[in-house]
Amino acid sequence: MTAKLTGTVALVTGASSGIGDATARALAEQGASVAVVARRKDRLDTLVAEIEGAGGTAYAVPADITDRSQAEQAVAEVVNQFGRLDILINNAGLMLLGTVVDQEVDEWERMIAVNQNGLLYMTKAALPHLLAAADDELRGVADIINISSIAGRQAWANFAAYNMTKFGVNGFTEALRQEITKKHIRVGLLEPGAVETELISHNNDTIKSDLAVSDAKNIPEKLQPEDIAESIAYMVTRHRRSSIAELWAMPTSQA
Ligand code: NDP
Repeated sequence: MTAKLTGTVALVTGASSGIGDATARALAEQGASVAVVARRKDRLDTLVAEIEGAGGTAYAVPADITDRSQAEQAVAEVVNQFGRLDILINNAGLMLLGTVVDQEVDEWERMIAVNQNGLLYMTKAALPHLLAAADDELRGVADIINISSIAGRQAWANFAAYNMTKFGVNGFTEALRQEITKKHIRVGLLEPGAVETELISHNNDTIKSDLAVSDAKNIPEKLQPEDIAESIAYMVTRHRRSSIAELWAMPTSQA
C-alpha cells in the first residue's frame, strides 16, 4: 500500500484500546505521525513503542478530554511536538446502559462528558490548526472524523442516554461539515455497528451478562477494531475534492 499520509499529523482520542488503538496503527502505516490521547498512559506508551517498532512515528499524550484545559493542552502539545495538525479522530467514548428509571444520573453525566463535551473541546481546540493545514500545500485538505454509532441512527430501550449522546454527535457533525467544508476541512461521520472492544466492560455485571446473551444470539460475528480503522483510513485518504460525509459500517451478522 502506498503511504498517502506522509508528512501529516493525526491525533486520535481514545487510542488506549479498541477502535482508537487500531486507527492509530492504520494511520501510522499510511505515513502519518500519530498523537495518541487517552487516560491510560501505560497503554499509550506500549502503543507508541509498537508503532515506532514497525517503522512509524507516534507520540503519547495522556489526557482526560472531559477536562477542557486538558483537552486544549493535549492539542497544543501535539502541535508543539510535530508543528502541525492535519487529522483529528474524535473516537473516545463511553457506553453505560440501563433504563431511564433505574440508571444513575451520574452515569449519564459521565457519557455526556466524554461523548459530547470531550468531542466539542477537542474539535474547538484543533480547528485553527486544521484550517492552517487545509490551507498549505502538503494536501490542501484537513480531516475531522467523529466516531458516532448505529446508536446515533437507531434508538433502543436501555440505550436512552447513550442514544442521546450519539444522535447529538450526528447533528453536530453535519452542521460543522456545512460550516467548514468549503475551507477544505472534511468533516466525516462514522457509525459502527457492534465491534469487539472493551466498550461493554464498563457496565455492571447484569447488563454485561444480558448483552453477552443477546449478542451471542443476534450478532454472532462482531466487527474487529481493524475493520473500523480501515474505514477511517479510507475516509482520510481520498482526493481533496472528495469528502465522505457519512459511513455506516455494520457487521454482516447484525440486522
Ligand atoms: P473502548 O472502551 O475500547 O475505547 C474507548 C476509549 O475511550 C479508550 O481508549 C478510553 O481510554 C477512551 N476514553 C474514555 N474516557 C476518556 C476520557 N475521559 N478521556 C480520554 N479518553 C477517554 O471502546 P471502543 O473502541 O469500542 O470505542 C471507541 C468509540 O467507538 C466510542 O466512541 C464508541 O461509542 C464507538 N462505538 C463503539 C462500538 C462498539 O461496538 N465497540 C459501536 C459503535 C460505536 P482511557 O480509559 O485510557 O481513557
